[in-house]
Amino acid sequence: MKDSILGFGAMRLPQIDAANPASINMDEFKQMVDYYMEQGFDYFDTSYAYHGERSENALKKALVERYPRDSFRIADKIPTWLLTCEDDNEKYVNMMLERLGIEYFDVLLIHNVNKAFINLVEEFKTFDYLKKLKEKGIAKKIGFSYHDKADLLEEILEKYSDIIDVVQLQLNYMDWADQRVQSKKCHDLCVKYGIEIIVMEPIKGGTLVNIADSVKEQFKEYSDKSIAEWALRFAGSQENVSVVLSGMGSVEQMKENCETFQNFEKITKEDHRFLMKMAREIKKTLAIDCSYCGYCVKECEENIPIPDLFNLYNSEKLYSLVANFANYTTITTDKAPASACTQCRSCIDICTQQLDIPELLIDVAELFE
Ligand code: SF4
Ligand code: SF4
Repeated sequence: MKDSILGFGAMRLPQIDAANPASINMDEFKQMVDYYMEQGFDYFDTSYAYHGERSENALKKALVERYPRDSFRIADKIPTWLLTCEDDNEKYVNMMLERLGIEYFDVLLIHNVNKAFINLVEEFKTFDYLKKLKEKGIAKKIGFSYHDKADLLEEILEKYSDIIDVVQLQLNYMDWADQRVQSKKCHDLCVKYGIEIIVMEPIKGGTLVNIADSVKEQFKEYSDKSIAEWALRFAGSQENVSVVLSGMGSVEQMKENCETFQNFEKITKEDHRFLMKMAREIKKTLAIDCSYCGYCVKECEENIPIPDLFNLYNSEKLYSLVANFANYTTITTDKAPASACTQCRSCIDICTQQLDIPELLIDVAELFE
């Protein structure tokens, strides 16, 4: 397999209003698309759900309407958790094609497959539906994005590896040996079944750059490469990985990431050992292992900005800043505070990190309220 490339994840795009995911800053997004294309990359990843369901349409305007269809690839994802019957597969796929303004997907994925949602996928025969789309040429490659442990992945691959092409996996050096996320075990299973891997969360939603100063120092001592570069190189160096997605939010971030992949250097065994050590160090400093994907927010009827509160909690545990308390008040003024959690547990199944969100919100409320 060729070296991996940088993929443009359209899930953390620049926003005009930081509190409104649907307010994508189209001017900046277009600049990012232009820069990314100029650098010779071509892979865009979106989903029905990203940016309050506006990501696909933003991609249509910034990319599809401005570049020839054969100059880029688009991966999109069916919203598994919204499926209520077999016909919904087609309903959502048609909506996705229309929102993007395209006739076919380069990659079509079932979004966020895990123990909670696999039953929906099976009941509504989504894999069979994808297979038919591939036969018709509406999807060039098919697969699923995965957020669970290796045992379920093995069951799915055992059953469907002959029809699927790709798995989108959460893979980064912090989760590589983690018992909850099991990145390495999941990666190895994909290799065993000959499945192409698209990496998501190589920087774990920013967690692997917003690290404690003591850990930053150790990176500096080890080399002059940036901390983000290490995370991307780790992901891109693994077997069967064809694309490493980065949810870039600014032109600056994009420039740095493009450079990493233009001069891509695989990590050495020594680098690998160093990064495993850094993973252990970061874990010691991190209170809540949230990837800030935001999926839980949609599930919460109380309108609690869960990832923002977890981010503040982590920052407070690391740095003890007065500003964190002021930010807590700002964030929860229009939305709800952690103490508004009714412990309904509706958000549990969708959490990509399998966190006990309501339990953790009790800790957040105790700290800030
Ligand atoms: S358990 Fe709490 S955070 Fe989760 S959906 Fe219910 S109210 Fe929202
Ligand atoms: S709590 Fe879970 S679902 Fe919510 S943002 Fe964090 S990782 Fe994502």
